[in-house]
Amino acid sequence: MSKNKKNANVDIFQLLLEKKEKQGKIKWKALLESLNVREFFEDGSISINERTCQGLECELCIKACPTKALYWRDGKVGIIKDLCVYCGACVLCCIVDDCITITRKRADGTTESFSKPGDIVVLFNGINSRRRHQRVRGIFPDDEAYLKRCGKTKTA
Ligand code: SF4
Ligand code: SF4
Repeated sequence: MSKNKKNANVDIFQLLLEKKEKQGKIKWKALLESLNVREFFEDGSISINERTCQGLECELCIKACPTKALYWRDGKVGIIKDLCVYCGACVLCCIVDDCITITRKRADGTTESFSKPGDIVVLFNGINSRRRHQRVRGIFPDDEAYLKRCGKTKTA
């Protein structure tokens, strides 16, 4: 196939769109890093229970939100959903359990949901222990490799 014929099959508009999206994502990530947001998610949902929220007496979530997705208006906490990155900072500091509920999707397709500070601690412990396990498995792919490193052999 000639070079010109090959180029004719390329959808230039699609390429430009993809490039723009890619650049947008890079800028978005850089912006979040500058705001000290280490964990951010593109897909998710957030809701606030207006009946249990302590509102004006509290406003801790509004102060904690790194992207300014939360605001106070008309006697309640409002959410600008497009600005939310489902980081969980608001849940971590909320004084009422099950007041803010977040569900978010990881890049591997798994979803997690939490509504209490304790949920986040459990979640992070689980993630960290999984990462530790993966690191050890990367160095020692099986039990024998591990025992060999310790100068031992597997007993039958
Ligand atoms: S999860 Fe909470 S703290 Fe994080 S961006 Fe969304 S509203 Fe803000
Ligand atoms: S931190 Fe919780 S209780 Fe306080 S204003 Fe935010 S949602 Fe309401």
